[in-house]
Amino acid sequence: MMIRKIAFFAAAMALLSAGAYLLLRKTLVFERLSPAPFNSVSGSFDNFFTVEMEKAGLDRAKISCLEQSLKKKISFARLGPRDSYAVYFSTAGEFRYLEIYKSADIYSSFYSGGKCISKKSREAFETETFSVSGEIKDNLWASMSSKKIPPSVILEYTDIFSWTVDFLTEVRDKDKFSIFYEERKTKSGKTLGYRISAASYEGSQTGRNIAVEFNGAYYDEKGKGAKSFFLRAPLNYRRISSYFTYKRYHPVLKYVRPHLGIDYAAPAGTPVSAVADGRISFAGNKGGYGKFLEISHAMGYVTTYGHLSKFSSKARAGRKVSQGDVIGYVGATGIATGPHLDFRVKQNGKFLNYLKIKNKSSMDLPSKYKKEFSEKVSRYFPNI
Ligand SMILES: [Zn+2]
Repeated sequence: MMIRKIAFFAAAMALLSAGAYLLLRKTLVFERLSPAPFNSVSGSFDNFFTVEMEKAGLDRAKISCLEQSLKKKISFARLGPRDSYAVYFSTAGEFRYLEIYKSADIYSSFYSGGKCISKKSREAFETETFSVSGEIKDNLWASMSSKKIPPSVILEYTDIFSWTVDFLTEVRDKDKFSIFYEERKTKSGKTLGYRISAASYEGSQTGRNIAVEFNGAYYDEKGKGAKSFFLRAPLNYRRISSYFTYKRYHPVLKYVRPHLGIDYAAPAGTPVSAVADGRISFAGNKGGYGKFLEISHAMGYVTTYGHLSKFSSKARAGRKVSQGDVIGYVGATGIATGPHLDFRVKQNGKFLNYLKIKNKSSMDLPSKYKKEFSEKVSRYFPNI
């Protein structure tokens, strides 16, 4: 009887961990590309600690466990884009430990049996710099991978330009790219993180785009901030890459303009992101649009997303959303011949051509740094 009970208990635990694995798989698919023997999610502190940990796939209980344990050792308010982290999971998808890299310090927090134990250590690390340039052949991912650019650097690159270039639809053969990045690693050769210091993309559809890092933010060659009010597209390269990597191919998506909006052809289930901060003003069924979502933004802008297969869990009327949040998934609900996203933008009730909207940058370089900045720009791009 006892043995049977134990066997039953073991089977139940196996089922539970399989369930946890399935939940985590979604956030981990991209990591399968990397050669690490366990799954890890890494990033830099572009957002608050809790937001970054949530993005990495940790639940509230684990995040607060980490916070409680780390708060005596580290000031969360002082973590910024120059500091990075890696969250490690067992191959079965269970959270194991977190590492935070700040200057020469490494803060580790181990999770076991609902408890977190943290320590601070110092490990000398070295920085190696790389400069890579090339031409597009087929798609961005293949072209950059063939130059040995690490996957996380490619995704970081698409994030930096996500307000100006849609790498899913606007990439063409013979477009040119360049990246200058550094790799931080321990003396024993373990990679702690990557940081892009400058990058460019010059394409037939996109024109020339330049980004140079300065004090933790990116600016174009004139000091105009890289971030702006609207993302270039509601389909995000990083999120879609994870989706496709799992299926082992990389997409070149297409868009058509059969009406006052843009139709992005994309496989059903592709995540759809809010293009700007705002509040969801409608989420439900709407005739031929099928599952339809509308977001109201500042300055009288409204964006709409139609034919969704489903909404994300946080997408409910009345809720606030941030730029880049996943609000739903591509589908073919309503009147649609195949899966696609029907995307439109209005301002004060009038439809606009989204790709022609002049996107004002949200934070430009303070003028006192102009001279220092332009020296940095000409070091990376002497011909500009
Ligand atoms: Zn349409």
